[in-house]
Amino acid sequence: MRDVTAELFQKIQKDDPNQTEFQQAVHEFLNSVDKIIDDLPHVVYHKVLDRLIEPERAIMFRVPWTTDEGILQINRGFRVQMNSALGPYKGGLRFHPSVNLSIVKFLAFEQTFKNSLTGLQMGGGKGGSNFDPKGKSDSEVMRFCQSFITELSRHIGADTDVPAGDIGVGGREIGYLFGQYKRLRNEFTGTLTGKSPLWGGSYIRPEATGYGLVYLAAAMLHDKGESFEGKTCLVSGSGNVAQYTVEKLNSLGAKVVTLSDSTGCIYDPSGIDDKKLRYVKTLKNVTRGRISAYAEAFKEAEYFPRKENGGANQVWTFAADCAFPCATQNEISATDARNLVKSNIKLVAEGANMPTTLEGVDIFHDNGVLFAPAKAANAGGVAVSGLEMAQNSSRIQWTAEKVDQQLQRIMKGIYANIRDTAKHYGSEGNLVDGANIAGFLKVANAMIDQGYV
Ligand code: GLU
Repeated sequence: MRDVTAELFQKIQKDDPNQTEFQQAVHEFLNSVDKIIDDLPHVVYHKVLDRLIEPERAIMFRVPWTTDEGILQINRGFRVQMNSALGPYKGGLRFHPSVNLSIVKFLAFEQTFKNSLTGLQMGGGKGGSNFDPKGKSDSEVMRFCQSFITELSRHIGADTDVPAGDIGVGGREIGYLFGQYKRLRNEFTGTLTGKSPLWGGSYIRPEATGYGLVYLAAAMLHDKGESFEGKTCLVSGSGNVAQYTVEKLNSLGAKVVTLSDSTGCIYDPSGIDDKKLRYVKTLKNVTRGRISAYAEAFKEAEYFPRKENGGANQVWTFAADCAFPCATQNEISATDARNLVKSNIKLVAEGANMPTTLEGVDIFHDNGVLFAPAKAANAGGVAVSGLEMAQNSSRIQWTAEKVDQQLQRIMKGIYANIRDTAKHYGSEGNLVDGANIAGFLKVANAMIDQGYV
């Protein structure tokens, strides 16, 4: 790294030594920006970098709630308002025991550049809680959501900060959060996205991240004269992103053979067709069961419990043409990347946020794997959130067809932008550089225009 970027990285290591996920996200970003920073016309860009790694505001609060048995509980709530150069802070809420300030800062940092790539007017933010929705009753989740938003409500608003879902926060939670927000403010506004289409939500929002991921990956294959027809695919995770990734891949003639959750993964060599996918949707969204149940329902599939001692992630050991990590951060280690390369993987597109470690990304690049980084590949979700904000502001609802058309246009545009940016700055084929540089320049120029704030 050059002096300016190396110094900046040392600064965050010194200031926040325990924020390893945040450091990882910044490291990847600085590696790309490093390649252009000396060629930029103004030394002012260096000063913008200083500001970019510091959140505009980070809010931490306690979330008191009671179990169904009346036992008092306490969790920690977060909202990191990272950057508002391009619009109101925008980004999801994650409810998961692993959530801490490092995780929320890394997600808010990534979100800033992801939102920039969509071309819509959205700044970057992220929030959540270390609350674990697993095993909680509907009424416990409802009481938790009501308590969480009671504090968060004073920091957000349709023109200030617009949260949405992420891991552990889906349609049910958005409904509870919205209902309580409306009571507190006595106004019906588009302050949250991912709402039900019955009451202000956008069609295609649940599908958007998975569909968008496949649209972008299809554009990459198209550039190489290929398509998804007949391709075998690995998908990890089994939540919203994974489900709609499988749905879109099936519709394009691909065969998906894996899914996973925190307890393990299933391998179904005959493919997770639409009928089996319907089973997964009910299992995960309604009965909230484990993926192991899939192997009991469909005898052609095998279940592999997750190994406790780390090591290789089983999902990435099966032979396939394409891989879609859609579970969580750092689910593809260097070992996993080597396993995928060994089985001749052609394309990896990230549905989760930062699912590949820095070493893993290098291994893919060194071995000519087509690699689509999260901040571009999974931008479809927040893009349709941006379209939901537009629909709410104009108080109309678009048809599903119109939203899907816009989503396809946006994903193709993101791909063309990051491919051409990488080429322009001498990193042809490196879409990590393309996404980081394109995302950075837009946010940085807006900050310079606005007086370096
Ligand atoms: N949590 C999603 C993401 O990582 C969506 C955020 C949103 O819709 O605001 O991009």
